[in-house]
Amino acid sequence: MPISAWGERGRQAAQAIAARGVPVSLGRIAVLLVLQESPSRHTTAEQLCRAMMESPYQTALSTFRAGIYELTESGLIWRVTLPAGSHAVTHYYEMADCPAHEHLFCTGCHRLEEVFDEPLLAMQRACLAAQGLRPAHVRSALVGRCKACAAQA
Ligand SMILES: [Zn+2]
Ligand SMILES: [Zn+2]
Repeated sequence: MPISAWGERGRQAAQAIAARGVPVSLGRIAVLLVLQESPSRHTTAEQLCRAMMESPYQTALSTFRAGIYELTESGLIWRVTLPAGSHAVTHYYEMADCPAHEHLFCTGCHRLEEVFDEPLLAMQRACLAAQGLRPAHVRSALVGRCKACAAQA
């Protein structure tokens, strides 16, 4: 299927991918389009795969899944890691289309709350850089209670 089959949005996604120096493929374009159209900003790989299968952006599941990881590597999408109890971690993905931010996962309503504190993050980056460390495009979420849930307790 030619990339033009997905219209202007597909073309824009292809450009964004190429701009990062990542080879353009249907799988990677599909990841961007599905993530852009996702009703919730933070979604898991499983949710994205399900959304892809119900979307017009059909690609092989393995290609699509690989695309999620490749775009995370390239910094086009961000991964937010959430410690999910003692046994596992959950990964959420989101478009890297706004300023970098922290996340707080609310244990009351199970939502990811975004916390924007650019000075803090800039300081973090500077500290790491000063020590020659380069963090990946992956952030761990803080765990706690959102404002509404904290007010109920
Ligand atoms: Zn809450
Ligand atoms: Zn976020």
